[in-house]
Amino acid sequence: MSVTERTDVLVIGSGFGGAIPAYHLAAGGAEVVILERGPHLTAPDFTHDLRLGGYTRIVDLVQGDGITVVAGNCVGGSSVVYFAASLRAPGFVFDRRGSLGHRLWPSTLTRAALDPWYDRVEEALPVAEQSWDQVPYPGGLFAAACDRAGRTCNPVPVAVDLARCTNCNWMLNGCHFDAKRSMLLNYLPAATAHGAEIRPLHEVQTIAPATTPGYRYRVSYTRLDAGDYRLPVGAGAIEAKTVVLAAGALATPVLLQRSAPLLGGVPQAVGRYFSGNGDRVSIADVDEGKVRDLLGLERAPGIPYQGFPIGKPIGSMSYDRLDPATAEFTRFSLQQIYFPGITDLLAQATDAPATSWFGVRKKELRARWPSWLSVLAMTEDDNEGVFGPPPPTGSSTRVATSLCLSTLSYRPTANTLRGWAAADAEARAVLERDGLARVRPWSENAAGSVSAHPLASCRMGDDPATSALDERGELRGHPGLFVTDGSAVPTSLCVNPSLTIAALAERACPGIVESTAEEGVRARYGAPVPR
Ligand SMILES: Cc1cc2nc3c(=O)[nH]c(=O)nc-3n(C[C@H](O)[C@H](O)[C@H](O)COP(=O)(O)OP(=O)(O)OC[C@H]3O[C@@H](n4cnc5c(N)ncnc54)[C@H](O)[C@@H]3O)c2cc1C
Repeated sequence: MSVTERTDVLVIGSGFGGAIPAYHLAAGGAEVVILERGPHLTAPDFTHDLRLGGYTRIVDLVQGDGITVVAGNCVGGSSVVYFAASLRAPGFVFDRRGSLGHRLWPSTLTRAALDPWYDRVEEALPVAEQSWDQVPYPGGLFAAACDRAGRTCNPVPVAVDLARCTNCNWMLNGCHFDAKRSMLLNYLPAATAHGAEIRPLHEVQTIAPATTPGYRYRVSYTRLDAGDYRLPVGAGAIEAKTVVLAAGALATPVLLQRSAPLLGGVPQAVGRYFSGNGDRVSIADVDEGKVRDLLGLERAPGIPYQGFPIGKPIGSMSYDRLDPATAEFTRFSLQQIYFPGITDLLAQATDAPATSWFGVRKKELRARWPSWLSVLAMTEDDNEGVFGPPPPTGSSTRVATSLCLSTLSYRPTANTLRGWAAADAEARAVLERDGLARVRPWSENAAGSVSAHPLASCRMGDDPATSALDERGELRGHPGLFVTDGSAVPTSLCVNPSLTIAALAERACPGIVESTAEEGVRARYGAPVPR
């Protein structure tokens, strides 16, 4: 039987977008409940293997039509499985106009306006600068190749305790050493220290108007079986004065779509304008002899490189093509990145026809795996992703452990394709110079484009027709219903998005506290950076 409870603030999702408001509201005096779909695991639970039942408990591969997205499914959200590259978005991003031809970010939001909020997040996580000695071998190799091609390259700032990091390269599985500064180590424990309650394995299904006077929303959820997330084991509802929706850019719009008949007046921009952050991954198959002869590198006696799996996943990055003076859709960054062996299947045999996924050439390519270098381009895409009608429950249809089918469809426009072509050309110019490597994009004929950075599916902006949220992150026409996750970010960012998601969530907190206080809750904004 279903029960109804009440709380001041109900937070849906516990990643960056959920954990940060949960902390500020709880520390400010509000009663906070966090409903999280995934399990609550901590460092001892995080394994170093790719067996089903390990990392698959906390990572979802969400397949749409034309795009596959990777996302976290646990307390702490994607911050638990992410690679911790922590970058501020370049200033020109905030002025982007896209193919709609008008400013897509709220006019109040510039890089300068967001900088104080970035400062807070960098302090809270905290973010560390890697020295070249701390950058892993692939990052060093990429930097050497950039240098030889006349490009610049820098170490990437990371939310990692570098003294604790063992360079095990298992970040996707969650950090066994508590070196990666996920939400499990800062905002969430600070929120629970102030009384916030986290309920794992609680999947929200709908948001409706409350029935109790003095409460604004009624949130209904299903409790999920810990061994098979497809099985419901209970249900309930909680009424709240304020709701913070932070289920991630793949789930937030779907929850609102399902809730639309109950809430009424849900903006038409919900579930449209999805961006995969312009993500584009390429594999470089590196010639060890050229590493020695052209770059003069030697990782170990007689071994020039063979270092793909060693280190942290993200080490170095080139910002050369982030020139604000160049045209929109031609700007991008190139980042050295590592994905575990499970994703090998996405790599093409580099000298085979595009359809050659298996067979001898593929095996040969796999045999050279230690000599790969993968590169992530983050480009300016065109917000072309659209969600279809919601599935009966959840945000996608779970067909197996870790594998979900989404209603999201993504058909890259000519603008997006132009950006990817420019990024591909730059990767080749750097890495194929004098035969150092052969570069090919991860195949698109099996999985579509691949993104780990879902954004913009319920975005903020000034134009009500093309943005679902106002500049405070409140859903238009629905006072007290705020969205603070990646779906609120209006456009792709040309860098990894977590720091921007977190800074926007920090920025939204004074308004959320104020809105909650207006409903008679004795809540005040002003908690310090969590320690
Ligand atoms: C493998 C990987 C590597 C990455 N590396 C980087 C990186 O190096 N740097 C970077 O900046 N970014 C990186 N990212 C992206 C970054 O992690 C995300 O952009 C960011 O964490 C998203 O935060 P969020 O709050 O929007 O959503 P999430 O962190 O995804 O949080 C959403 C939460 O809501 C929960 N949820 C969903 N539906 C429901 C529901 N119905 N009810 C209750 N709970 C629900 C989910 O389980 C999840 O915990 C990476 C992502 C992945 C997957």
